Amino acid sequence: MTAVRIEVKGIVQGVGFRPFVHRLVKRWGFTGWVRNTSYGAELELCGAGRALLLFIDELKNNPPPLALIEGVEYREVEPGDYGGFEIIPSRDAGHMETLVSPDVGICADCRRELLDVNDRRYHYPFINCTNCGPRFTIIKSVPYDRASTSMAAFPMCPDCAREFGDIEDRRYHAQPDCCPACGPRCFYLDGRGKALAGDAVELAREDIKAGKIVCIKGLGGMHLACLPEPDIVNGLRRRKRRDEKPFAVMCRDLDCARRLCRVTGAEAAALESFRKPIVLLDKLDPASLMHLSENGSLGVMLPYTPLHVLLFGSDIDCLVMTSANISDTPIVSGNGQALRELGGVADGFLLHDREIQTKCDDSLIRIYAGRDYPLRRSRGYVPYPVTVPVERMLLACGAEQKASFCLTKRGHAFPSQHMGDLKNAETLDNWEAQIEHFSKLFDIRPEAVACDMHPDYLSTAYAEERAGRDGIPLLKVQHHHAHMAACMADNGLEGECLGLIWDGTGYGTDGTIWGGEVLAGGYGSFTRAGSIRPIALAGGDAAIDGIWRVGAAALASSGLDAGMFSGEEGFGTVMRMLESGTNSPLSSGMGRLFDAAAAILGIKRRAGYQGQGAVLLEAAADAQETGRYPYGFEDASGVLTLDWRGMVRAMALDGAGAGARAAKFMNTLISAAAEQLARISRASGLRRVVLSGGVFQNMYIMNRLPARLRAEGLEVYCHSRVSANDEGVSLGQAMVLEENYVPGGTA
Ligand code: ZN
Ligand code: ZN
Ligand code: FE
Repeated sequence: MTAVRIEVKGIVQGVGFRPFVHRLVKRWGFTGWVRNTSYGAELELCGAGRALLLFIDELKNNPPPLALIEGVEYREVEPGDYGGFEIIPSRDAGHMETLVSPDVGICADCRRELLDVNDRRYHYPFINCTNCGPRFTIIKSVPYDRASTSMAAFPMCPDCAREFGDIEDRRYHAQPDCCPACGPRCFYLDGRGKALAGDAVELAREDIKAGKIVCIKGLGGMHLACLPEPDIVNGLRRRKRRDEKPFAVMCRDLDCARRLCRVTGAEAAALESFRKPIVLLDKLDPASLMHLSENGSLGVMLPYTPLHVLLFGSDIDCLVMTSANISDTPIVSGNGQALRELGGVADGFLLHDREIQTKCDDSLIRIYAGRDYPLRRSRGYVPYPVTVPVERMLLACGAEQKASFCLTKRGHAFPSQHMGDLKNAETLDNWEAQIEHFSKLFDIRPEAVACDMHPDYLSTAYAEERAGRDGIPLLKVQHHHAHMAACMADNGLEGECLGLIWDGTGYGTDGTIWGGEVLAGGYGSFTRAGSIRPIALAGGDAAIDGIWRVGAAALASSGLDAGMFSGEEGFGTVMRMLESGTNSPLSSGMGRLFDAAAAILGIKRRAGYQGQGAVLLEAAADAQETGRYPYGFEDASGVLTLDWRGMVRAMALDGAGAGARAAKFMNTLISAAAEQLARISRASGLRRVVLSGGVFQNMYIMNRLPARLRAEGLEVYCHSRVSANDEGVSLGQAMVLEENYVPGGTA
């Protein structure tokens, strides 16, 4: 007989790990114990040496579905006096990490029971087990037990209680366990809020099949659902005041998704994973389904709650499923709120009486280079931490438009869910409330706080107020330095590297707007090594939507006539502003250059949503086109600055079609970035490059730029755990704050 001490690092708490170990140990006939530790779990097992090795292999290769095991180490120890196998109290309980599981999509076992006429939960829309079901969105406080969740209102019946207490059962300690006898119920109301008698799910299905728009209560909020037919969808757009933004769809299964889009193996795995994100897929025919999304890709997800499975039945293949909110407000989550605010939008309401404690939108990812490429990190991912080398308790407040925050503690960073634009008052309230909620859940009392340098961001105002109230240091982190640090942390990089940060807008250390930057440095500090020639934004914020203004500025500063925009309202004023420089702040944002190109190429003159110019320019680009335009560099006091005027001139005068010109525009930027980084790398000796910023959501660029950079001898790192856009900024701020923290002093 041999005894081993096994240390398991990773997320193993609240995911059914100890019952899993218990069952495995029983099968092998070992004795010993298991306990939680602050970094995972610890086991001591006694048995035959070979069997113990097989057990360790099994632990590494087949952990319970929700566990994230980062490392398993073991050593031989003196056998103790074990009475059998037991779960013993946690060591150093004062430092326990109370990790909270994200919401988990319905598992295969529950799905089978849901559709089994002989099961006691047949067609019960709230079936769940240890391996699936609601978590984060129903938890009010920790420790995580039923009484501290929205399920407190539903005492377990004796049958459910028996399952809950049986370590051999799949529902052992499944806090939301319930059944038709004891759990939540669905109901259906018409558009006026009048309850209708009958099977709620059937009533909703009938309305949907008749072409109506139905509000459906999900895990983290309400969806508006309808058939994906053009006239129905256009009706939804009118009612939702969402004229051009793409809609995501939910497909009944993978086969249905494959009838609309190309689905690779990695994409199929992501769609079917327990996280059940929306995966952005390439349409089979890029020109199809334009009423759903006006570019070549479509967001697709699979049913992730039992209610969704029942809703599709066997005769609905695909539904438009969009977050229920009006323009920029947070997702609607309460029954009363839904009836009040969506009365003019939905023709019916499929609701239930389990309260949504925490709002959480669907996550949105792409698969890039075989891995997740997050675009919106939310349901299914949050609140799992990202492992980072930060021991301190810190709060980072993020940016503003794609707001998030990030709390850190003992090797873990907890980035928040997608929050939306803080300029909306309700969004700001929700963001502040979530900071409090996360702080309580993970027992984090920040020792210091970080925010953006932008003086007008509401997250900055909150950070200033918070630092004063708590008497803790505040550090303002330059926006693109935070992007760079986020991508470094995402890849576990230490030391110094280069950051190519292509972004829309970020406040620079010189008070101008940056966003086409090459930074050199690490978490501690950076220097601005490269940039792009700034472009004037005539009318300031008016140029963010009115992107023709940026097109006019680009033409004018390239020595061309901007007359192609003379029909636009305010053209004369804009030209006078550009000439005199009044009310025309300068921006080196790469996003603005995309806006200018989209306008000059006649692709889009006014953006209906953020980044629309760039999205449509990417969609228009001819993938076969390999040509490019000329460009130059100027050394602006040590900053290697791309001069794009030659490119704009050549692009404007090029007689080729918009698709060829859009491709040549991006090819030029790719060539220019490769040359710029190669030169900066030679001068600095730094060879690692991180890519971050919202522009890197562009797959034309992502599919070409990294290879070009590698050809220059550079090592390229991209995001895979947090978003490249401003949602990822809070993680980067936390990293910069940790590195600059001075105990007892100012950060
Ligand atoms: Zn299950
Ligand atoms: Zn029950
Ligand atoms: Fe940004």
